[in-house]
Amino acid sequence: MKIDRRSFLAFVLGGAAGTALSPLPWKLTDDISIWTQNWPWTPVPPKGETTYVDSTCTLCPGGCGIRVRRVEDRVVKIEGRNDHPVSRGGICPLGAAGVQLLYSPWRVRQPLKKMDGRFVPVSWEQAIGEIAGVLRELREAGTPEAVAWIADTDRGTTAELCRRFLTVYGSPNFIRTPCAQDAWETALFLTQGQRATAGFDLERATFLLSLGSGLLEGWGTPPFVFRARGALKDNNGRFVQADARLSKTAAKADQWLPILPGSEGTLAFGLIHVLLKEGRERKPFVAAHTAGLEELKRQALQEAFSPEAVAQATGLEAKAVVELARAFAAAERPLAVCGRGAGRVPGGLQETLAVHFLNALVGSVNVEGGVIAVPEPEYIRWPEPEMDAVASKGMQTPRVDGAGSERYPHARYLLNRLPEALLQGDRPAVRVLFVSGGNPFYSLAGGERTEKALARIPLIVSFSPFLDETAAAAHYILPAPTHLERWEDVPGAAGYPKPVVGLARPVVPPRFATMPTADVVLRLARRLGGPIRAAFPWESHEACLRQTLGPAWETLRRKGFAVEEGFKPQPFETASRKFEFANADLKRLAAFRPLPAPGDPGAFKLTLVPFDTLRLTAALGAPPFLVKALESEILLKNDIRVEIHPQTARDLGLVDGADARITTPQGSARVRVYLTEGIRPGLVGMARGLGRGAHDRYLAGKGVSANRLLAAVEDPSSGLEAGWGIRARLERA
Ligand code: SF4
Repeated sequence: MKIDRRSFLAFVLGGAAGTALSPLPWKLTDDISIWTQNWPWTPVPPKGETTYVDSTCTLCPGGCGIRVRRVEDRVVKIEGRNDHPVSRGGICPLGAAGVQLLYSPWRVRQPLKKMDGRFVPVSWEQAIGEIAGVLRELREAGTPEAVAWIADTDRGTTAELCRRFLTVYGSPNFIRTPCAQDAWETALFLTQGQRATAGFDLERATFLLSLGSGLLEGWGTPPFVFRARGALKDNNGRFVQADARLSKTAAKADQWLPILPGSEGTLAFGLIHVLLKEGRERKPFVAAHTAGLEELKRQALQEAFSPEAVAQATGLEAKAVVELARAFAAAERPLAVCGRGAGRVPGGLQETLAVHFLNALVGSVNVEGGVIAVPEPEYIRWPEPEMDAVASKGMQTPRVDGAGSERYPHARYLLNRLPEALLQGDRPAVRVLFVSGGNPFYSLAGGERTEKALARIPLIVSFSPFLDETAAAAHYILPAPTHLERWEDVPGAAGYPKPVVGLARPVVPPRFATMPTADVVLRLARRLGGPIRAAFPWESHEACLRQTLGPAWETLRRKGFAVEEGFKPQPFETASRKFEFANADLKRLAAFRPLPAPGDPGAFKLTLVPFDTLRLTAALGAPPFLVKALESEILLKNDIRVEIHPQTARDLGLVDGADARITTPQGSARVRVYLTEGIRPGLVGMARGLGRGAHDRYLAGKGVSANRLLAAVEDPSSGLEAGWGIRARLERA
């Protein structure tokens, strides 16, 4: 029976597909004592009735199902939902720490307006009225495109309402925060003709090759990835991690290949070289389902990708490259993944294409155990809004980030390019910036230059529930409720190979005078009137959700999620109806070239390589539980530690624990040294996620931010952020 993709939601919710569910053995690995400490501001649960509410976590793109334990109206614990297809009883430390976010004393309790450098409380009426006034002026001046909106997702009704608002207002500048999916989505489109996200059937792969992905450090949806790691073990599969340092993922892998940082794409091409040279590609799949193999051969069989050349570039032995290629090709269901660390930096498009080509050569595309193009569940079918002349004109202006331009025609969002665009001209190209999700003031590379660029925007509105760096820099904070206090549809789960939709619900009433971002959009639209108001016929976000989901609303409300269990990957949609190794669009891309770390190797002898850790991946900042649980190898009291190899330490005259100063072309910071054999000589490893200038006292002021030491690196083939490190000096402080 063919399932119409458009109707899958109704189909699944109608009960036609069941789920075989089992509890997930993996739970939190953190020391239980961490979770039972007394936090003065965490409410002591009253005596009372214990109840459980099922919901969906929205703290990252994972969309895990959660079960929230309440005593009366107090949340006391968050666990993974056993019957949820993505998490199956698992939960990551951040998801479990959601209780702390709910009760954090550093939440923004009501709308705030910055006056004379300080935030003062204002009413919702005043805040929305004043912002609408500025928006009206910009429209009257004929420059609606000077409004931009940064969101951490482009899916679901809230994101669609924000984008729709910009559209009828007259700005094309809706920008999603970057992640590895940016490169994967473009790769899927260019090779398969499919607008979809990349799902990875990790549970059914039998050989998993990770090119720098922190599979156990926040990449994809952690509970799903952890479970898949267990499945691989149970199936006697093999897991190989190519990584510049002995990350947690590398330590748990069957084999760690300590490659030079930035050489992942070269290694992928090297493996392709061996496969093609030895005729180890899956010939039936390649013959039946791919096109352009000759062009790939021309590219990959160059001397630059011979085992010897790749050995030179990656730091591996030529023999190891050949053996890896052979083992990968011989596996029943091999799968290669990329997206460094937690996958927050997209990386180069050509690099991702190389990994995708590798999968295609072994037949692991759109099949069991492979990379799967997962279309977005299409339940949002609102009529096209009517646009007036101002909006139509504004929508025809080029995007401020250059996405979709002649130079980067396939890019959809390029937030990394925003700072440079803002620095051009007497007046910044963006006059009003809305930020709902993500934390660009903290997460963008580029140090002071980026800060200077963002500071040029005359009006910044943050919707953060917390005083994070972006909120602190904003002119207004219009705090949204946390994920435990609001309705939210959550389509998709990062890296999960099937379409899934979750529903987050108010588990407790809002604690403060917050407002869902979608409701702010509706109120702004009402204030602006005319066609803008007409495009939003809903009283509230909840009413919009009910109407949008239609009959599915009740079922989704009852069950909490819908998954298309019988999902079958769609046929390729390229002109040839095959997977294309070559076509006109691919040909136009800048050729593959490993991107060097910025900086003069003569002046900066070392290379700083940032890494992710599961406890510090949240854009909004880590809750106290997670900061407390940080290893002393990363944070010693308030000092960040940088990893270096003992040989590097000897060369520099440094000892373990020594005070040191790290300097890059972007900046300088005091650090403490941690000696480990788990990093290549010549590298300096530094955790991302510290050095917070805002948030709470458990996190703020601890360590330094790796982002401030890194430079923005633009991938020439896509415009995406592709930085993986920077040249550095390390000296005794
Ligand atoms: S992986 Fe993401 S969605 Fe799942 S529990 Fe953790 S933070 Fe929440």
